[in-house]
Amino acid sequence: MSDTAHQQQMARKKAVVDAAIARADQDKGVLLVLTGNGKGKSSSAFGMVARTLGYGKKVGVAQFLKSRRDTGEELFLGNQPDVDWQVLGDGFTWDTQNREADIASAQRGWQVAQGFLRDASLHLVVLDELTYLLNYGYLDAARVYADIKARPAMQHVVITGRAAPQALLDLADTVSEIQDVKHAFRAGVRAQAGIDL
Ligand code: ATP
Ligand code: MG
Repeated sequence: MSDTAHQQQMARKKAVVDAAIARADQDKGVLLVLTGNGKGKSSSAFGMVARTLGYGKKVGVAQFLKSRRDTGEELFLGNQPDVDWQVLGDGFTWDTQNREADIASAQRGWQVAQGFLRDASLHLVVLDELTYLLNYGYLDAARVYADIKARPAMQHVVITGRAAPQALLDLADTVSEIQDVKHAFRAGVRAQAGIDL
C-alpha cells in the first residue's frame, strides 16, 4: 500500500472512531461480568480497583470463594484506606463438604454485599467469584439481580467467576469471556506470587 493510501485509510478509521466517541455521551454506573475459563478475571477486577483508587474514590470488595488469605491483592488493596475488603466465603463445597453451612455462609455474605450495593459513597463494588454461588443455588438469584438493579445510579459493579448465568449476562452492560488457551499450571508450574496470587 502506498503512503497516501495508508494515510487515507487511517483518516477514514479516525473519522469512524471519532464519531463513535462523540455518540457515547452518557454516564452511568455499569455492571461488568468477567467470565470464562481463562486466567484474568479477578486480576482484571483488581485492576479496576486500582484505577478507581487513583481518582481518590472508594471501593467495596466482596470475595465469595476464598481458600487463601495471603494473596497479593488482599495484602496490598486490603490495606488501602479507601477499600472495604470483605472475605465472605472460606472455601465452600470442596473444602467444607457441608451444603447447609455453605448456604448459610453465602447468605451472610450476601448481606454484606447488599450493604455495599446501598452505599452511594462506593464508586465501585467488586463481587469476586459470585457466579459460583448463583450456579450452586446458594443464593436467591432473583434477589441478587434485584439488589444489583436497585444500586445507586452511578455505582459500578464488577462480577467475576466462571459460567456466569445467562440472566446475569443479560443484566450486564459489559461482558468479557476470557478463553483458556494455555495455563502454566498444566505444565507443572505452581502458582506464582504476583501472577496467580
Ligand atoms: P486471576 O485471579 O489470576 O485473574 P481468575 O480470576 O481468572 O484468575 P479463577 O478461576 O478465579 O481465575 O482462579 C484463580 C487462580 O487459578 C489463579 O491462581 C489463576 O492463575 C488460576 N487459574 C485461572 N484459570 C486457570 C486455568 N484455566 N488453568 C489453571 N489455573 C487457572
Ligand atoms: Mg478469580
